[in-house]
Amino acid sequence: MALNADRLSRTFVALCEIDSPSKGEGKLSLFLQDLFRGLGADRIFADGSAPLTGSDCGNLVVRFAGSRSDAEALFFNCHLDVIHPCAGVKVRRIGDQFSSAGNTVLGADDKAGIAILIEVLTSLREEKRPFPPVEFIFTTCEEIGLRGAKAFDPLSLTARYGYALDSTGIDNVIVGAPASCAITAEIHGLAAHAGLRPQHGINAIHLAAQAVARLQLGQLDADTTANIGLITGGTATNIIPDYARVDGEVRSHNLLTLQATIAHFQMVFADVVAGWHDPAHLISTLPSLVFAAPEQYPLMDLAVDNPAVVRARLAAASLGRSLRFIKAGGGSDANIFNAAGLATAILGIGMENVHSTSENILLPDMLRTAELVSSLITC
Ligand SMILES: [Zn+2]
Repeated sequence: MALNADRLSRTFVALCEIDSPSKGEGKLSLFLQDLFRGLGADRIFADGSAPLTGSDCGNLVVRFAGSRSDAEALFFNCHLDVIHPCAGVKVRRIGDQFSSAGNTVLGADDKAGIAILIEVLTSLREEKRPFPPVEFIFTTCEEIGLRGAKAFDPLSLTARYGYALDSTGIDNVIVGAPASCAITAEIHGLAAHAGLRPQHGINAIHLAAQAVARLQLGQLDADTTANIGLITGGTATNIIPDYARVDGEVRSHNLLTLQATIAHFQMVFADVVAGWHDPAHLISTLPSLVFAAPEQYPLMDLAVDNPAVVRARLAAASLGRSLRFIKAGGGSDANIFNAAGLATAILGIGMENVHSTSENILLPDMLRTAELVSSLITC
């Protein structure tokens, strides 16, 4: 098929140089609406998620009916937002490599995916190749808690399975991702002057520190990781702190291990707080704990016979390629879609060093992904 490398490059650079921070995706959304109108999309609409996400626009849904309108529809997903620092991106191209010319990220995460989808659709239409109904769902606020995907109504799509173009590497298909729960432990102690009345205080930070020191963190087993990422509390060095808050997360591909780890963490905090004693018998109150572990995103686990996996294998075979089907440690829109009944596999699109100012991507890798996407649509 005739993918146009120059056109893909131009599209990619244009997308990267449109500011689209989380909650500020509106300008990019309008640009894409115009572009897809020009490409003859049959339906373009922004959903009503903006009040829920805090963005200046909704998720953007684009549908091409295709000439094989009786065939099964499939969808592709990218997110519109880019992680900070992302204001005023200027793209530098050296040879076939794109990176940021300044102190910003490049935004290949996830604009390389969007550019690839545009190039594939453009070339399919140019060549008048028959294709089934194809839908695009471009989400807002992915980088700040998958908010767009969480606020998206899966019934806005007719397709029941598809692909997110949102991972590093090339010829990778991510079929499993962990579930994640946030951990919040708030310890309430008792304030007192640290120098004059120390025996009248309950040091919440000290209790938090004892609990954190007892937790096992990092890679707990092959499926599970745990982290404490934030500790807050206290007001001044001469005041015994009456409050400390510990924030962290647990992720696992195994839901039983996830729940057991969270239960253990809660038990450790409760045990430390309950174990406090008042050596001078001067305090009439006790420290207390408020522990919460809300879900951040659900488990993603596609079976080998899932239609998204089967179609990926077919599409790669028709290109004479083989793909690596892997489990990854991150959470993305695909976790949310899968839990909502939209089977979604994640494709590696060649972006590297994402979420950093050294983010980069190679044009040949974008073209290779575009070939795969084209094959997914037409196979
Ligand atoms: Zn991304």
